[in-house]
Amino acid sequence: MEVIITKYEVNNFIDGKFTKNKHKTMDVISPLDGSVISKLPLSNYIDVDNAVIAAKKAFIGWSSLTLKERVQVFFKYRALLEKNIEELTGLIQVENGKNYDEAKAEVEKSIELCEFAVSMPQIVVNEIQEVSKGVECRIERKPLGVVASITPFNFPNMVPHWTMPNALVLGNTMVMKPSEVVPLSTIRIAELLKEAGLPDGVFNLVNGGKEVVEAICDHPGIEAVSFVGSTKVAKIVYKRATSSLKRCVALGGAKNHLIVLPDANPEMTASNVLASMSGCAGQRCMAASVMVGVDKVQHIIDMMVKESKKIIPGQNLGAIISAEAKNRIEKYITEAEVDGAKILIDGRNAVVPGKEGGFYVGVTILDYVTTEMAVAREEIFGPVISIIRAKNLDQAIEIENSSNYGNAAAVFTQSGGLAKQVMDRASAGMIGVNIGVPVPREPFSFGGWNESKFGVADITGRSSIEFWTQNKKITTKWNPEAQINWMS
Ligand code: NAD
Repeated sequence: MEVIITKYEVNNFIDGKFTKNKHKTMDVISPLDGSVISKLPLSNYIDVDNAVIAAKKAFIGWSSLTLKERVQVFFKYRALLEKNIEELTGLIQVENGKNYDEAKAEVEKSIELCEFAVSMPQIVVNEIQEVSKGVECRIERKPLGVVASITPFNFPNMVPHWTMPNALVLGNTMVMKPSEVVPLSTIRIAELLKEAGLPDGVFNLVNGGKEVVEAICDHPGIEAVSFVGSTKVAKIVYKRATSSLKRCVALGGAKNHLIVLPDANPEMTASNVLASMSGCAGQRCMAASVMVGVDKVQHIIDMMVKESKKIIPGQNLGAIISAEAKNRIEKYITEAEVDGAKILIDGRNAVVPGKEGGFYVGVTILDYVTTEMAVAREEIFGPVISIIRAKNLDQAIEIENSSNYGNAAAVFTQSGGLAKQVMDRASAGMIGVNIGVPVPREPFSFGGWNESKFGVADITGRSSIEFWTQNKKITTKWNPEAQINWMS
């Protein structure tokens, strides 16, 4: 399907209005064909400060509404996402390079995230107990104030919906900093929130790069920071935000291991491993990156090789975000080849006819990778799978455990007992059994372990409620007999 391209001007959105840009700009480039689709203002501390002032002002009215009143905006907003799904899908395609089905699935996931947010009145029910005759203790969940969300390039529509609906419905106001390479989706999100009736200042957008992130971490008016991106930057943000006494959850990169046992269903396993490593062109933090093949799994690998030939760049395989990222991925493949890995399928130098300026890498399958190679240890973030051969399950789990990351891990087998061993012993926050992309759906929460996440809470689902609120503990005594049997 041809992408619907809508030209968007990228400006900051502060206090319900798009501001006129007075900054230096950078080009926003479509990975589909390398064309310049917009200019992004490189904002600074003053812009963040203006957004915080607007968000602080808006917090007074927004937080005084009841939860049931606040979710009404998100019922309308959810309907607007559905009404505008084709346009939102096109924006993701043009700025991120996904294919149509993947981009549409992203918006559908955003709709689902809104459905969780509008269900908050059913979930966030305060606790109350008569702790002594006539004396009650109750816990109320209160919003934090102005909070911030910093997002990556790979899900320009969905990741903003990991944080924004829950944080706002719970009474906070927000400053969001989208990835500078994919700013279009969030511009449209801001417009649709306004159309849904969100009061001015409740949601603000500040576009730019590192300077904006640093300003968010340092700004004394911001109470909490959520971050999703690479581990390198997650560490910087977590340290900087917490050192200025904010609560922070920072999700980082990944290196997900899929353990394939010889008794696994061959067709299902081959197609799941391939879908996991090549979906979104391998640019998702839940993508399979290492397949640990235990003992006799050659028949499954042969099937993967055969099936991989049906995955065609520019058709059912999307683009890589930038020329720089494409070069990085291809360099990893070349390095692995030099180090002795066997290339079963080589995706280097992929060109899509008619889109020669675009950035594409084809599916790449590397066999006989060893644990010391960079492709076995580092995040590649492209459609590349490294197969490491293991003698037995213990060795496979050891390989998984040795990764610095810990986002996801999965096992393919027909044995419940062996699957249970991986469930118990894998060092990752999200585990799949016969599922290549084990994303927990709401009300379950999304979040990894080790260097894939810093901070206590998870970013979605029930756990996010803890992150976006603080408890107020209230003790009341209203009747006379309480005076004799309780602390004054
Ligand atoms: P990134 O870390 O380069 O950028 C993320 C955000 O940080 C952007 O908004 C960017 O402007 C900002 N940033 C970049 N460099 C910075 C610096 N030096 N100081 C301060 N801010 C900086 O990540 P990306 O390339 O946009 O996204 C891909 C990465 O995100 C991958 O590593 C992927 O695994 C990860 N990711 C993780 C999850 C998860 O749930 N764990 C989800 C999606 C993406």
